[in-house]
Amino acid sequence: MAPCGCNRPLRSARFGPGIPAPRIAGACAAHRERVCWSLNPLPMQTTEPGSPRSADTPVQFLKGIGPRRSEILAAHGIRTAGDLLHHIPFRYEDRTRFRSTVGIRPEEWVLVRGEVCGVGGSPGRRPGFSVFEMLVRDQRGTLRVKFFNQPYLRRVYQPGVRLVLYGQVKRDPYAHGAPVLMNPECEILDEDGEGIHSGRVVPVYRRLGDLKSRALRLILHGVASGLPPEVPDGLPSWLVAKLRLPPKAAAIRQLHFPVLASRRPEEREREMGLYNSGTSPAHKRMMFEELFQLQVAIRMVREGRVRQVKERAVRLDDRVRTAIKKILPFHPTEAQKRVLGEIAADLCSRHPMSRLLQGDVGSGKTIVAAQAAVIAVENGFQAAVMAPTEILAEQHFFYFRRLLEPLGYRIDLFKGSLRSKEKRGARERLERGETQIAIGTHALVQESVRFHRLALAVIDEQHRFGVVERNLLREKGQRPDVLVMTATPIPRSLALTLYGDLDVSVIDEMPPGRKPIRTVWLDREERPRALEAIDRTVRSGHQAYVVYPLVEETEKSDLRAATEAAAELGGTVFPQYRVGLLHGRMKGEEKEETMRAFAAGEIRILVATTVVEVGVDVANATLMVIEHSERFGLAQLHQLRGRVGRGAARSDCILVGDVGRSAEARRRMDILCETNDGFRIAEVDLELRGPGEMIGTRQSGIPAFRYANLLRDRRALEIARIEAEGFVTMLRERPDAECRRVAAMIREQWKEHFGPALT
Ligand code: ADP
Ligand code: MG
Repeated sequence: MAPCGCNRPLRSARFGPGIPAPRIAGACAAHRERVCWSLNPLPMQTTEPGSPRSADTPVQFLKGIGPRRSEILAAHGIRTAGDLLHHIPFRYEDRTRFRSTVGIRPEEWVLVRGEVCGVGGSPGRRPGFSVFEMLVRDQRGTLRVKFFNQPYLRRVYQPGVRLVLYGQVKRDPYAHGAPVLMNPECEILDEDGEGIHSGRVVPVYRRLGDLKSRALRLILHGVASGLPPEVPDGLPSWLVAKLRLPPKAAAIRQLHFPVLASRRPEEREREMGLYNSGTSPAHKRMMFEELFQLQVAIRMVREGRVRQVKERAVRLDDRVRTAIKKILPFHPTEAQKRVLGEIAADLCSRHPMSRLLQGDVGSGKTIVAAQAAVIAVENGFQAAVMAPTEILAEQHFFYFRRLLEPLGYRIDLFKGSLRSKEKRGARERLERGETQIAIGTHALVQESVRFHRLALAVIDEQHRFGVVERNLLREKGQRPDVLVMTATPIPRSLALTLYGDLDVSVIDEMPPGRKPIRTVWLDREERPRALEAIDRTVRSGHQAYVVYPLVEETEKSDLRAATEAAAELGGTVFPQYRVGLLHGRMKGEEKEETMRAFAAGEIRILVATTVVEVGVDVANATLMVIEHSERFGLAQLHQLRGRVGRGAARSDCILVGDVGRSAEARRRMDILCETNDGFRIAEVDLELRGPGEMIGTRQSGIPAFRYANLLRDRRALEIARIEAEGFVTMLRERPDAECRRVAAMIREQWKEHFGPALT
């Protein structure tokens, strides 16, 4: 019989086409709505003090939360009842089946319900140490329970108190090894025998500061049970019906205090499995809402952009074409030509460009950006190029100068470490329009930097920037065309959904003559072989990098490792070669000088931290040695390796690392030795780390998902994409009240993330 009490057959609820659907707990055909409520025994008293009036109710007004706790929660970004409800359990325990006290064995985890029938205990032998002991009786027998150093419990657990205990049974060394529960979880039952921490499927929360799972459970029980029957839904009602999703309020309550549909142990176990893997119908509903909203928001951004019109004319006539060709030091690849064509068309179109240029490390994105800049400048406008590190910005600066100064362009560098007089000069030239191209770090987006007529904003290695910086640069001009470039190879399927607000161009071809980088992996003991390889490389007239990881927390010691290695290599191992050191803590001029000397071939061996990860381009360097390679992620290793293999000579990469017993680290090394294909590596990275890690907020401007897992939920993502498409069309052509309501919610939800673009 269904839990609602009617005897209609249970209908299985489909989650959506193509998604294998677990049954929604007891949704009977006739009483869908009602069942969902009766599923959940939590009382619905919205008037109860401390119950949230709305999702915006600040946490300090909630029951169980005082000023100290609300501070802890705020430190975790939880400010409102709604935020708190998103702190979902990471695990659930089925504590419905009570164990009889008869025949209990040591090591067993037990849930026992009974009544205190005797108490005792002693102050203990050592001062300040005490034992409180009680005997709990159920219908069939008794169980001994001990608590240490909690003398006040004597007042709480008095004979006659009914309670539930949960814990692991131990042998009591002071009672000839008899079974005893030591410091179990305990809950006193009210008159009806109802409990929050037992007798149900119990949520286990990740602790927040001092707030442990149990305290959170209590608080969230209050919040979840005070939830009104209808909460604002981020999905349109027709979609909820179509996909047969549980109503939002019900899903939220199920997430925190699930009530399983079945009583049969094996069925319950299966359902528990769904909850514990985050794939219960309730989880899926929240996950789908998240994906749908992101997809809609992305499309809104895009539509908003398409509606915008640029008030400038850019033409690609013969004069401009000649200028573009003139700067080329080599023949562009077919891919480069195609991509430039796509960009040029955008530049000439009436609507602002928002384009992602993807291309593996070394595929030659920079020259394409330079050509795009020429188009802008030849039409009388300015261009900006923003890079994530000073080293990269400087390198672009020299590269652009070499290419473009013959055309008579004025190019200026903007970076934090400039003297204020230099900065002022550069700013004034830029504002007056004397500078055609501004290259820099995020110093470019500072308020004091103003352009005369910015038409093109290029953002290199965009995975290092957030959407915020992208938008700030965008605001420096009148609807400038934006080109973001990245070598972070995101599998295409994901790129299209994640960067749906951008058009995507891909350079899928390497410049001619490139030979694949040979990669080997050496154990720590085999490190001398890496030194031999360095020697061979330098003797043949080439140069080598030796890279050390720099992890923030241990920065000092890592820095020391790199510094010492440089001293050792230069002092004792290779006294005959000039060895340079490069790290992020060096002064701008020092860095510049080191990079110049390395590019000029004066420094033969460059010991560096990961500051060389992106963009550094010295074609004569043909060997990359990566120390402690087990500490780098796959994408990062691929980026680092991309510093070599930039010329016609064959290049090598040596990974020195101790993978220990980590199968994952071993797999990383293996895949790098196996292939140079960034996309293949990205797929493996995705498998190993999950997309949450690979495309974290900071890295890509893609929000960290609360419920969705882009790898696991690919199919749902596809459905969300299609539904979002339909939704946006409807919003544009014939929006009804429901459509407008959801659109407003989505705008509100995502406005911070997408900035003014989301209109
Ligand atoms: P990335 O895409 O990683 O930013 P770069 O733009 O730094 O790559 O280019 C890598 C190297 O390849 C540079 O030295 C560049 O001059 C060179 N290069 C780019 N395109 C070509 C080409 N079509 N033919 C020969 N060399 C090229
Ligand atoms: Mg680059």
